[in-house]
This record gives sequence, C-alpha cells and structure tokens, in this order.
Amino acid sequence: MKEVLKLEQSLQQAQELLAQIPPLLLTWYDHSARILPWRQQPTPYRVWVSEIMLQQTRVSAVMPYYERFLSALPTVGALADAPEEVLLKLWEGLGYYNRVRNMQKAARAVMEQHGGELPASFEELVKLPGIGEYTAGAVASIAYGLRVPAVDGNVLRILSRWLLSRADVTMPPVKRAYQALVQQMLPAERVGDFNQALMELGATVCLPNGDPLCESCPVAGLCRARERGCAAELPVKAPKKPRREEKRTILLVVSEGKVLLTKRPANGLLAGLWEYLNLEGHLSAQEAAAHCGVPVSSVRRLGAAKHIFSHIEWKMRGYLIQVSGFTPQGECVWADQLQFEEQYSVPSAFQQYTKLLRQYWEDQR
Ligand code: SF4
Repeated sequence: MKEVLKLEQSLQQAQELLAQIPPLLLTWYDHSARILPWRQQPTPYRVWVSEIMLQQTRVSAVMPYYERFLSALPTVGALADAPEEVLLKLWEGLGYYNRVRNMQKAARAVMEQHGGELPASFEELVKLPGIGEYTAGAVASIAYGLRVPAVDGNVLRILSRWLLSRADVTMPPVKRAYQALVQQMLPAERVGDFNQALMELGATVCLPNGDPLCESCPVAGLCRARERGCAAELPVKAPKKPRREEKRTILLVVSEGKVLLTKRPANGLLAGLWEYLNLEGHLSAQEAAAHCGVPVSSVRRLGAAKHIFSHIEWKMRGYLIQVSGFTPQGECVWADQLQFEEQYSVPSAFQQYTKLLRQYWEDQR
C-alpha cells in the first residue's frame, strides 16, 4: 500500500514530464513501427482478431494464423456461424482455446445485439465475452479513434520504468492508477496510434526480463529508471504461485496407418479438443500395452516431453503402440493422416508426439 501511495505522489509530480512523451513517441512510431498485417486496414474486426490472438502469443507466431483465420472467416457473421471443428482447427497450435470460443460467443452477441458491427463504445465492447479492458481499449481507440487507454503488461512495465515506481503492477489499484495516467496522456489526435506506439515500444525496445534497449529508446531522456540505472529491476510483480506438476503417459496407438484419437471432455483444460490416449502417471511399456486391452504387435518407447500451461506443467512420456482389432468406444476415432491434418484439432501440448506420428507416417510410405 505504501508503494501505491508513493506511486500516486509520483504521478502528481510527473505530469510535466509525461506531457512531453506523446509527441516523441508518435514521431518514433511513424519511423519505426513494424509493418504488421493488422495495422493495414484496421477495421474493428481485424483489430479484435489480432488483439485476441496476440494475448500470450508472439507476433511471429500469430502472423500465419491471422491471415488464415481472416481468409476463412472474414466477417463477424462468418465467425458467429463457423462450426466448432473449423474454429478449433484454425486455432490449432495457438493454445488457450477459450479465447476463440469466447470470440465466437462475442460474435454471436454482436450479430444479435449490434447488427453485426462491433460497437463503437468502450462500455459496450467490454460487456462482450472474452473482451477485457485492454482489448476494448485497443479496438475502441485503434479502429474507432475513441479516447480510451489500452493498458496491458507492456504498458505497465514502461510506466513503472518512466516513473521509477516499485508499486506491484499486479495490484488492481496500481493498474487503475496507470490507466488513469494513460487516459490523461492521450493526445488530442491519433489516439489509436499513441496506444499502438506504447505497445510497440514495449514489444521492441522497453523489453521485459531486465533487458530494455535504452540506447534505442525515443524517450530515454525522460526515463527515471534509466537515469538511476535500475530499469532492469522494474516492474515489480508479486511472485506467481508455483505450477502443479502432472505426470502423463501418451499412447500413439496405431493400426493400418491410422491413429487413435479421443475427444477431451467439453469442460476444463483443452476442452473439446482431440488427443492421443493420455493416461495419468508414468506407465511402463508393459502397463501401457495392457491398457490397450487388445493384442499388441509392438511397443516403442518415445522420448519424454513437457508442456507448460498457466497453472500446470505436464511431464510426459510416450509409446508408439501397434495394435490390431481395436474397436473405439465413446468419443474415439481412427484417423488417417489426411483426416488428422484436415479435420481434427490436436493441441500443441502434444506437438513432440505429433512430430513423431508424422515421422511414423513418413516411414510407412
Ligand atoms: S529508457 Fe529504457 S527503461 Fe526507459 S522507457 Fe526507454 S527502454 Fe524503457
């Protein structure tokens, strides 16, 4: 709380300093901004899709997904009507699948309540599923030119450094104070560009993990943390809870060139996606084979793999198991390579085993 009070005092003292920043930042943005597909024709739909994809995902990883998504679903209406399998396939590998499910819920709400156009109002945008204050601010300012801030982790980091504030940026009062500050800093014109310039600075210059490129920074002369040589220590964030570790055994069960896939439950982690047989614990080859319950022709041990979710870490081991006569029950299918590639969405948590499966298909040719 002491740090929050200090931050509030520091904000009052910094008004003059902060007023100098927008023109410097906009000039830098005009010369240095990366050319990104969502910055061309920034329609509300295009900005929205890009902002959702960019949550927890790097720009380079998003690029191919963005183009593919927009050409398959070019409008809010197309997104609202897309079958779930199509939606999940377009998102396959991006992770955090609830993002795309919420986008579809929001698209349906936009069709029903807003005549198919994302509303030109921060307050209405933030009511839509999956759209938080940051995304609403980004769409409202970039696509509609509305005077609202868009404050994400990048912006919180930059502001902590400008102000040399050690207030914990994960605390809601700190975030609110910074949102109010950016609101005051918004220039009279080019609000969307200003918000994007802040994001761009955070993504390309004022980098996280103690690695800012201060020598390339357009506002280095106004930055208190740089002056004191402590930019790398900021922002301050409360430590996250340690992740829970889970051991899993992944079975690539194959027969006559097909792989057995099962559908995950409709709720919870990776809800509704397809996966290989996936068992709790680390099983021996014998235990894994016994689990199939049918004659097994061969079992090959595959390498270990891990996948980190936000709260859980999977430590996996795997086996390639050749069987014959396995009749799938429940939500299971046998998929050949074409069906696997075109129809079924298998999350990137299994990517090591998916690579080995493709290798298996390659070897079969
Ligand atoms: S001077 Fe360094 S720490 Fe300060 S805003 Fe620029 S890059 Fe970030």
